[in-house]
Amino acid sequence: MSNQTSHALLKRARQLLPGGVNSPVRSFASVGGDPFFVARAEGSKIYDVDGREYIDYVCSYGPLILGHAHPAIVRAIQEQAERGTSYGAPTEWEVELADEIVAAIPSVDMVRFVNSGTEATMSAVRLARAFTGRKRIIKCEGCYHGHGDGFLSQAGSGLTTLGIASSPGVPDEFAGLTINVPFNNAQALKAALEEYENDVAAVILEPVPANMGVVVPYDGYLHEVRQMTRDHDVLLIFDEVITGFRLAYGGAQEYFGVDADLTCLGKIIGGGLPVGAYGGRRDIMQLVAPSGPVYQAGTLSGNPLAMRAGLEMLNQLKRPGIYQQLEETARQLVDELQKSIRRHGWPLRINHIGSMLTVFFTLSLVVDYSTAKRADTERYARYFHHMLDHGIFLAPSQFEAMFISTAHSPADIEKTAKTQLAVLRMML
Ligand SMILES: *Cc1c(COP(=O)(O)O)cnc(C)c1O
Repeated sequence: MSNQTSHALLKRARQLLPGGVNSPVRSFASVGGDPFFVARAEGSKIYDVDGREYIDYVCSYGPLILGHAHPAIVRAIQEQAERGTSYGAPTEWEVELADEIVAAIPSVDMVRFVNSGTEATMSAVRLARAFTGRKRIIKCEGCYHGHGDGFLSQAGSGLTTLGIASSPGVPDEFAGLTINVPFNNAQALKAALEEYENDVAAVILEPVPANMGVVVPYDGYLHEVRQMTRDHDVLLIFDEVITGFRLAYGGAQEYFGVDADLTCLGKIIGGGLPVGAYGGRRDIMQLVAPSGPVYQAGTLSGNPLAMRAGLEMLNQLKRPGIYQQLEETARQLVDELQKSIRRHGWPLRINHIGSMLTVFFTLSLVVDYSTAKRADTERYARYFHHMLDHGIFLAPSQFEAMFISTAHSPADIEKTAKTQLAVLRMML
């Protein structure tokens, strides 16, 4: 336990950090109340400075697929730290991790490591623009690709209108280069590709969106997107920052049997340290400096600490049965939750795929951003706080995923299901 309470730390933090945090969702702004400050974490559990224990389904928003402080990853980090944390010169670990990624994702021939998912998507778009000589991109509403200017763009009125800035500080000229279409709507994408024929560099999407809550692509959607981008000679960028090494070892591309031209990675491949990567076809990647003219660089990119944490992570994920185990644990949780929802006729819907899920407070199908937004966020906020009070840490927003790790035990799942039943009974 720390000698400072969450309450005291938050008071100080708010004087020193905007909103008291370094990433907005952590502030609990969309559920109300104050965040707890973390003292430590291990396996499926996270402990706050006030001495409370929670079963953690946030898992740092995706990276911690083996749970917190996995011994093998801790060992790799410790070993490397003693040899130096960054050299500004190449190491074998960059080559090894690149080799693992190239072997895991057949559409990726070469990679460039960066330090976050945001950097990966921004750089991939720059590269796509350079490769095609075109300036517009198409993205799906509700998909998150980090905080790059061009991604903070929301749909204007009408299906294929130019985007408008979704944050102050983003010039409309930047946001306007991004066209927003609904996810799971091949018709809308077709219309946008036709309207901006010869002007679109790339279509970028999360193959399984997890940043409007989990949304599952309908059967064949990703294949249609692949075909359409090919027909229009537009690059397809899969943002697999969450799905990479989570849905399957080879990510969404393995899971659905679809190839992208460029792939963005992050989260899991850093083993819990800050890493991102973008990669893809050799003829495209060779345009990146210094082998080509497209500038992109990073002081700490590919640093050995992050590379070794990531390598150990992938090493662990290659053990047989890991993805089946994740899938079974998630299935057990979803089944338990569904059972009580169905029995009581509660107005909830669970979207689930692999080891990620979202409990939406709505009866309508959630297939895209506009249907996700129908969820009752006020109810979610109450649910979140009751679950937290009972030792279950869910994402402090309706529009995030619950992540299952290999550290979640049957006892964790049982406790979570029991708690949810009690909480919903009280609430609904
Ligand atoms: C988290 C995330 C990002 C941004 O990654 P950061 O490391 O937070 O910059 C990009 N795309 C997706 C799909 C993400 O989930």
